[in-house]
Amino acid sequence: MTMRRASLSGKTALVTGAGRGIGRAIARQIASEGALVAVHYGASVQAALETVRLIEEDGGEAFTVQADVRSVAEIAAMFEVLDKAFATRTGGRDIDILVNNAGAGASLSIAQTDEEAFDRVFSINVKGLFFVSQQALPRMRPGGRVINISSLTARGQMMDRAAYGASKLAVNSLTQSFAQLLGPQNITVNAIMPGLIETDLVAELMKNPAVVDAIVKQTALGRTGKPTDIASAVSLLLSDEAGWITGQCIEVTGGARL
Ligand code: NAP
Repeated sequence: MTMRRASLSGKTALVTGAGRGIGRAIARQIASEGALVAVHYGASVQAALETVRLIEEDGGEAFTVQADVRSVAEIAAMFEVLDKAFATRTGGRDIDILVNNAGAGASLSIAQTDEEAFDRVFSINVKGLFFVSQQALPRMRPGGRVINISSLTARGQMMDRAAYGASKLAVNSLTQSFAQLLGPQNITVNAIMPGLIETDLVAELMKNPAVVDAIVKQTALGRTGKPTDIASAVSLLLSDEAGWITGQCIEVTGGARL
């Protein structure tokens, strides 16, 4: 992990989907800067425990919380657990940083997308993010930061991920609504739109060198991304210097599809 500075010391963070992939890298980055991190997971308990272990190995502090973000009841129950866990460690239930990272989306053409697949992608990416935020926002301290992980596919023109792209455009819309709502409390809300990042989500695609080559050729920096590329961008948005940036949906893609 990149050790920048202990600028997040004394702060609390919730990172959803932090057991694997981009979420794990974000959780590790934030913890390495001094925040106490709640590592949320849905199904991957062992992976989440491993994220906590890695954070502790780096000298940071973290614990796990669980909820299937498709269920509003599970989200509410998770926040009760979270309140107690933060209270035990900090004396309060306040949240300084929320990273809405949990997400899903298979590669499916419009013709292949059935009702179940469509509902699944919107239920995790939009409904889950909405109701996690609904619980988290009233708990956020002035000066807090919210970062939603969207996707370059929100731009559209992705014929094999049309429903996924539409769900991420909804994430961008929510980002702007939340930014408007929270501005008076000096809380910023931004979205990061990653390009192709090597994680389980795109494991099938990564097995197809022709597709990967085509994407890399359309990328100014000439490579696919790593989870740490997104964690670094999150770190920038959490810095004091980013305090005047809000309501923005920022492409972090190495210059893809310019
Ligand atoms: P990943 O490795 O597949 O991880 C997905 C994460 O989301 C996991 O931690 C998973 O947790 C969580 N999650 C999925 N369904 C959930 C549910 N129903 N309830 C709770 N948690 C759930 O994918 P990733 O690439 O790191 O994706 C992270 C974010 O980046 C997503 O929002 C994705 O859309 C976005 N993104 C990725 C790429 C890319 O190229 N990889 C590009 C653009 C945007 P459990 O395993 O514990 O259920």
